[in-house]
Amino acid sequence: MAAATDVVVVGAGLAGLAAARRLVDAGAEVVVLEARGRVGGRTLTLPAADGTPIDHGGQWIGPTQDRIAALAERLGVTTYPSYERGLNTEFRDGQAHRFDGQLPDDDPVSAVAMGQAIRELDAMAARVPLEAPWTAEEALAWDSQTVETWLQARVGSERARNWLREAIRSTLAAEARDLSLLHTLFVIRSAGGIAPLLATAGGAQERRFHQGAQAISIRLAESLDGRVVLGVPAQLVSHGEAGVVVEAEGRTVTAGRAILAVPPAIAGRIGYRPALPGWRSQLTQRVPMGSVIKVHAIYEEPFWREEGLSGFVVSDRGPVTIVYDNSPEDGSPGVLVGFIEGEQARSWARRNRADRRAGVLACLADYFGERAGRPRELLERSWADEEYSGGCFAGYFPPGVWTSFGQALREPIGRLHWAGTETATAWTAYMEGAVQSGQRAADEVLAAS
Ligand SMILES: Cc1cc2nc3c(=O)[nH]c(=O)nc-3n(C[C@H](O)[C@H](O)[C@H](O)COP(=O)(O)OP(=O)(O)OC[C@H]3O[C@@H](n4cnc5c(N)ncnc54)[C@H](O)[C@@H]3O)c2cc1C
Repeated sequence: MAAATDVVVVGAGLAGLAAARRLVDAGAEVVVLEARGRVGGRTLTLPAADGTPIDHGGQWIGPTQDRIAALAERLGVTTYPSYERGLNTEFRDGQAHRFDGQLPDDDPVSAVAMGQAIRELDAMAARVPLEAPWTAEEALAWDSQTVETWLQARVGSERARNWLREAIRSTLAAEARDLSLLHTLFVIRSAGGIAPLLATAGGAQERRFHQGAQAISIRLAESLDGRVVLGVPAQLVSHGEAGVVVEAEGRTVTAGRAILAVPPAIAGRIGYRPALPGWRSQLTQRVPMGSVIKVHAIYEEPFWREEGLSGFVVSDRGPVTIVYDNSPEDGSPGVLVGFIEGEQARSWARRNRADRRAGVLACLADYFGERAGRPRELLERSWADEEYSGGCFAGYFPPGVWTSFGQALREPIGRLHWAGTETATAWTAYMEGAVQSGQRAADEVLAAS
């Protein structure tokens, strides 16, 4: 089937749908092609056995994430505060230590080292221009090292280094050794600092959606009134001065312009005629996706709350290294969400499901006692196994990529425009970044038309 329109959008995640919404609001005609049989991309909400909505992908929003908040509000998707009363847990050297506040207070030397490292990283991040990180004065030096080499050079306490490694892992689902320091500083700056990235109240984990995060995309797609086509992976994008033709499985769309709202690595799998310039192709060869398996354990009630625990854990044992209380607002049922990230996700993804299940339950029992090892339901989602995501939370930049290829990330190529959270300058890697990128790409198209 062939169709003609003003703009064809590839990808019905938050970025593609936000772009389409803005274009339609401005009077343009749009067709959105989505590979999967559903919208929402890296957000996915499925009911647990009792119907509780479970977010297997993106879920939290926080202060300064104004675009996603406004979009949700416009669509009637409501939020509630994440639960964080009670003591947090650090599991270290085979033992659970309970503590109040953001950091354990039993090791002042490491706490000081951690505070100093955070101040130093924040100060460096403030010197990264968001629109063009490669133009930072120290860009080359920062892009020539990993976060790991920086930690080893600058942070004296091994415990502080481990905390920072875990903070990085829980933000980017990659290891400190994988990440360009410049990229990490860019991510920090785009969120307004390290504290907003890590905090629950006052930070990125502050609120959740009653209906689940995917509800935003589902309602957005409904509002687009038949313009979103599901189950049609774009395979070939022909482009020239006259316009664009996107050939998807079973569907061809002719348009004035295209917005490709997919992660760089996924954009690199689509064919282009004529082929894209080498600098774009070499970028998309170099921005791998993070590695994460998200698990949910569901209990009759959040029993850890009665024991004075918040449900938050940071741990040095695998596979689950971070846990939060993810119960619905009324606390029924009790839900713990655990993240298997970075190297743990890479190695545990190769094990069988039964092994993984045993590994996860052993962690939860260590953190919260025997009862946590007997949930009534255990759910898992490995994002590297998703053909049209390739991993999560987002694409990240290893050393050398920003300074050699960064300019290719957002720059339109003729009638092709790029969106997706990786191209955002605010809250990149987050849902907020996805919405910002989609709206920016739509504005670019409107300005060019
Ligand atoms: C486990 C997990 C936890 C997360 N937690 C949070 C969180 O708490 N808060 C937060 O803000 N963010 C979180 N994120 C990140 C957030 O979900 C993403 O940043 C955001 O959803 C990205 O949206 P996007 O539109 O840029 O990309 P995507 O959602 O990846 O959308 C791209 C779309 O393009 C489609 N597609 C791919 N290839 C093709 C093709 N060839 N043709 C047509 N369509 C194609 C895909 O199917 C997909 O629907 C999390 C992500 C994961 C996976």
